[in-house]
Amino acid sequence: MTLDTAAPGDYAADGTDPAVLDAADPLASFPPRFLPSDDVVSYLDGNSLGRPLAATLGRLDRFVRHDWGSRLIRSWDEQWMDLPTTLGDRIGALCLGAAPGQTVVADSTTVLLYKAIRAALDFGQRSGRSEIVIDDDQFPTDRFVVEGIAEERGATIRWIHVDKTLGVTPDLLAPVVGPSTAVVVVNHISYRSGFLADLAEVTRVVHEAGALIVWDLCHSTGVVPIELDAAGVDFAVGCTYKYLNGGPGAPALAYVATRLLDELAQPIQGWMGAADVFSMAPAYEPAPSIRRFLSGTPPILGMLAMQDMLDAIEEAGIEAIRAKSLALTDYAFALADAWLVPLGVKTATPRERGMRGSHVTLTHPSFREVTALLWQQGVVPDFRGPDALRIGLSPLSTTFVEVQVGVAAIRDALLTLEEES
Ligand SMILES: *Cc1c(COP(=O)(O)O)cnc(C)c1O
Repeated sequence: MTLDTAAPGDYAADGTDPAVLDAADPLASFPPRFLPSDDVVSYLDGNSLGRPLAATLGRLDRFVRHDWGSRLIRSWDEQWMDLPTTLGDRIGALCLGAAPGQTVVADSTTVLLYKAIRAALDFGQRSGRSEIVIDDDQFPTDRFVVEGIAEERGATIRWIHVDKTLGVTPDLLAPVVGPSTAVVVVNHISYRSGFLADLAEVTRVVHEAGALIVWDLCHSTGVVPIELDAAGVDFAVGCTYKYLNGGPGAPALAYVATRLLDELAQPIQGWMGAADVFSMAPAYEPAPSIRRFLSGTPPILGMLAMQDMLDAIEEAGIEAIRAKSLALTDYAFALADAWLVPLGVKTATPRERGMRGSHVTLTHPSFREVTALLWQQGVVPDFRGPDALRIGLSPLSTTFVEVQVGVAAIRDALLTLEEES
């Protein structure tokens, strides 16, 4: 087997020995910094739950002993009140191409999607725009939130039908948006196919129709360079427990362009988003800044682990992370072509490098059983019904050896199941 797609720079593979690829990896110092698992030999689900860095142990210990245990409530003044925005600014600078003052960390993705889509719809409805545009293969929570908002606000949903191996393109979108469109909700990277949407071009098409866009960045934050300011994006919402390794249930991030802040209200008015938090005022007056997207007390504990990952991302650089991501997905494709396609597996992720994120999706009718077998062996991809297995490749923690071990295990599981039937 040869790698048919030459990777750039240091990844140019002269052979397929994954240990050679790992040895040549400019980011080779990163995988050993993550905590080892007792039994997992190939973790292919970092796109769903990033692994903890060893540094996080110390950070959590210091937090409990010092910031919380010793400084007690004084820590709110000393550091916690500003954490949603200082952390937001840092993510904005390192991962989103966002100038300060536009990104906040809070709530969950679902809740921030609700706030952003509601704010955008309300804005459009003021000028008679009543439609929300979304595709029919978008992540369930995004679709459910949109359906709830449409019912609540008497809006209409325009569904775009997308191919499950692709996602939303400017060509699909252009005929659907128009003078009735208030807001368009698009996944930057499809959770199913790994398709990478053209963020700048899709945003342009939406703006040409006079509508606002809400980008869901869950599968791209921390793994693909993003330029929200340059593209003139209105809103974005992203996840911090995937490629930002914030830990289970870590709060989400929201980006709102500065030019929109004054004109928008979000629907969950709470004291933490008020202009003067401790004035205990009789009426709600929203903060003049991105803080107005906060509602209640920020989940500080959930904001700790991601800070270690942001340190790592800053050290590695998002461009180098993207280069390794492409090399890992190239390698997964090459192995899948050699070992799995002959067994009836299909690839459901775009081959073109510019059109894919950091996971490779494969389909086969037996993948539900295959995934169950693999988990027992310490090989951990994930399964998304009805027939998709996702190989998630988190560039700072995933090694080429892990990819090879994982794809070989998929092959062996398919062969075992074939023998049994
Ligand atoms: C992971 C993910 C979510 C998760 O939402 P939560 O509120 O954190 O559960 C939402 N949308 C997409 C596209 C995702 O990939």
